[in-house]
Amino acid sequence: MDADRPVRHGEEAQLHSIGIDIGGTKVAAGVVSSDGTILRRTQRPTPSHSPAAVEDAIVALVAELSRDGDIASVGIGAAGWVDSDQSLVRFSPHLAWRNEPLAARLNQRISVPVIVDNDANAAAWAEYRYGSGRDAKVMVCITLGTGIGGAIIINGKLFRGAYGMAGEFGHMGVVPEGHWCPCGNRGCWEQYASGNALVRDARALMREGSPRAAALLAAVDDIDHLTGPDVTHLAVAGDPVSRELIADVGRWLGKGLADLAAALDPDLFVIGGGVSAAGSLLLDPAREAFSRTLTGRGFRPPASIVLARFRNDAGLIGAADLARHAIDEPPGARAFWPRRRTHRRARTRLPRRRLRDLVAERQQRA
Ligand SMILES: [Zn+2]
Repeated sequence: MDADRPVRHGEEAQLHSIGIDIGGTKVAAGVVSSDGTILRRTQRPTPSHSPAAVEDAIVALVAELSRDGDIASVGIGAAGWVDSDQSLVRFSPHLAWRNEPLAARLNQRISVPVIVDNDANAAAWAEYRYGSGRDAKVMVCITLGTGIGGAIIINGKLFRGAYGMAGEFGHMGVVPEGHWCPCGNRGCWEQYASGNALVRDARALMREGSPRAAALLAAVDDIDHLTGPDVTHLAVAGDPVSRELIADVGRWLGKGLADLAAALDPDLFVIGGGVSAAGSLLLDPAREAFSRTLTGRGFRPPASIVLARFRNDAGLIGAADLARHAIDEPPGARAFWPRRRTHRRARTRLPRRRLRDLVAERQQRA
């Protein structure tokens, strides 16, 4: 066998992967077993915007977590556009990555294969493998955070599109000449169905001094400090206006889901992200708007709309499992397998020897 390959087809089943979720404020990492359990975890603040600092943080997290040498691969989930080879980050909103060959760069410093994927893809994969989407044939996952993250899984495979950018549902135009979106267009779906939309509308109501906004006004010292979770908490606690605001987001959600059903005919929508903490206060209006808008309604089985199982760990667990999966089916990039180094230094290379031993052990047993 090629000694540079830590493990061959089918031999990774009992090995663990590291998942890394790079968020705007923190980088969370964990060792994940093949049944989706996080065995150990660590995190640190997202370093400044320098790509080198983020790369150093990833290498340090991997070194910290791979001390027992049982790691087969590393998967990284990050917001932004990642190419379909799970290697090149074309653009990331939180970080200064622009056409960054991240997997290739890390493979010079980490001695097991590394993949990178969009964070919404990673979260959807976790739901498909271990969460609410386990038996879906065609699953669409929507992450409602400040914006909308989207991902599509068809017959057990992530659908990434030709350039890795499929699933950017948040920027489908739903309202002609509607609210401006940071993407440069107007009327994007995420300007109506997201945490940002919820907060914008709540603050507008507060600024009008409506007596109906009393609970919202009492919840914060300054209107500008109101957050999405504030509104969600008040809604769950029974505040009628907060419930209406959530229901409004739910209705926009349901309409958009009906459009996605017209395009993709899924059997399941999984809804995650911060706003999904509102539960049925969000999903009931969404289901109602969905069935009212769905094309062919009455003549087709409607897709189920359910809540995600994972909230905070979906990206980490999904990235780790995508990395495990990539060993069986390596993505197209040549950068997938770590480079053979003539002068190896003791960085994070401890796994390879252990992996070779494991493979040898198995061959002896066979
Ligand atoms: Zn947009």
